[in-house]
Amino acid sequence: MLLIKNGRLVDPKSHFNDVTDILIDNGKIIKIANDIEAPDGAEVIDASRYYVTPGLIDVHVHFRDPGFTYKEDIYTGANAAKKGGFTTVVMMANTNPAIDNLDTLKYVLDKAAETDINVLTCGDITKGLKGKELVDMPSLKEQGAVGFTDDGIPIMDAEILREAMRVAKELNVPLSFHEEDLKYNDNNGINKGRASTHFNIGGADRMAEISMIKRDIKMALEEGAICDFQHISAKESVNLIYEAKKKLLSEKGIDIPDYNFTDDINISDIKGITTEDALGITIHAEATPNHFTLTEDDVIKHGTLAKINPPIREEADRMAIIRGLKANAIDLIVTDHAPHSAEEKDRPITEAPSGIIGLETSLALAFTELVKTGYLTLEEVIAKMTINPAKMYNIDAGYVSEGANADLTIFSEDEWVPKEYASKSSNTPFTGRILSGKVKYTICGGKVVYEG
Ligand SMILES: [Zn+2]
Repeated sequence: MLLIKNGRLVDPKSHFNDVTDILIDNGKIIKIANDIEAPDGAEVIDASRYYVTPGLIDVHVHFRDPGFTYKEDIYTGANAAKKGGFTTVVMMANTNPAIDNLDTLKYVLDKAAETDINVLTCGDITKGLKGKELVDMPSLKEQGAVGFTDDGIPIMDAEILREAMRVAKELNVPLSFHEEDLKYNDNNGINKGRASTHFNIGGADRMAEISMIKRDIKMALEEGAICDFQHISAKESVNLIYEAKKKLLSEKGIDIPDYNFTDDINISDIKGITTEDALGITIHAEATPNHFTLTEDDVIKHGTLAKINPPIREEADRMAIIRGLKANAIDLIVTDHAPHSAEEKDRPITEAPSGIIGLETSLALAFTELVKTGYLTLEEVIAKMTINPAKMYNIDAGYVSEGANADLTIFSEDEWVPKEYASKSSNTPFTGRILSGKVKYTICGGKVVYEG
C-alpha cells in the first residue's frame, strides 16, 4: 500500500483542487479523503509541499525505435518520460521500418510492455509514409494501434486523406496531421522572416501550415472523423481551429464568443470553450512548449538546437498560441519529443535534422510559461496534459478517482536548471534555463517509477 499525505490534488476531470490524502493498493486508488490513517506496512509519501495530478500523458513522442536507436529507443524514451512526470505516451510511427505493418507494430508494443509506464503507439496512415496507399487500419487497430498519423510528413493527396478519415470514423480512432505544404518552404525548420534572413536561407513560410489546415479542417468537418492538428505554429492556424470548433459546438446548441487571436486580447478575459465541451467534439489541436515559449530570437541564438518543423515563429504567433490554449482552441499540450544526436545537430543549419527533445522539460515549461505568468490556471494546463489527450485517444487514464488506476504525478513549484537528460539525446535549447516546476515522484500503476 502507498499513502500520499497532504498533497494538493488538482484533477481537471472532477475539478477537484484541494489538499487531501490518497491511498493506493494493488495499482488502484482505493480512497481519497482527509486524514487517512496509514495502514500497517504502508509506504507514506509526505506531499505537503507538492501538487498531485493525474499521471501526465503525451500523445506526440518520437522514440526512434526501430531504425534510429542511436538517437533514442523505447526504454530510454520511457525513462525520459517518467523523469518528466509522464505515465502514458503515444509514439509516432515514422520509424524504420515504419509502423505500417503488423510485425513492426508487434515489435514496438512488445518492447513497450517491458517498460514500467504506458507506452502506446500510432500506426502510419499511409504505407511507408509515402502518402499513396492506406495501411490496413482495421488490423493495426485490432492489434493495438491507438491512432494513425504520418507525422513528420504532410499528406498531400486529398483523396487519400478523405479515405483515411472515412475509415478512421468507422473505427472511431483519431488521426493526427503534420500540416506543412512543403511547396511553400525553401528550407524547413527555420521561419521565413527574421530567422531565415539571419541565416541567409529561404526558410519555412507560415502559408505551408495555414493552407494545409484550411484544406483539412474543411474535410474534417465534412467527414466527422476525430482529427488532431499537430504542433500549431502560426497565429492564423489558431483562428482557423477555433472557428471550426465554434461551428461544431453551435451544431450542438453551444455558443462561444468570437475571437481573433491575433488581436491583443487580455488573456485572463478570454472565455472560450470549456474542457467538457472541448472533449465532446471531433476537432483537436496541439501546442508544444517550444511553440509557446520560444520565438525567432531564440532560434537565432540557439541555431540548430531550436530548429523544428513547423518552425518557431514570431512573438505574435507565440501569444496567439497561448490565447488559443486559454480558449481551448488548442486543447492538447504535447512535447513532439524528437531526439537527434549531437553530431547531427552540429551540422550546418540547412542540413541538421529538425527536432527538440521535450519530455523532461515539458511540465516545467508549461508551469513557468503558462501558470506562473498567470495566463492559464494549473487546472487548465493539467487538463491539456491528462484528461484531454486521454479522451481523444480513448485511453482510460488522465483522472484521479477512487477505483481508477493509480497513475499520478507529484511535483513542486521549485526552480531547477535542466543539465542532464535520461534521454539518449540532449538536443534542446532549454539546457541551462531556469525553470519552475520540478517532478518529485512519478507513480504508474501504483508503483513509484521515478523519484527526483
Ligand atoms: Zn510533426
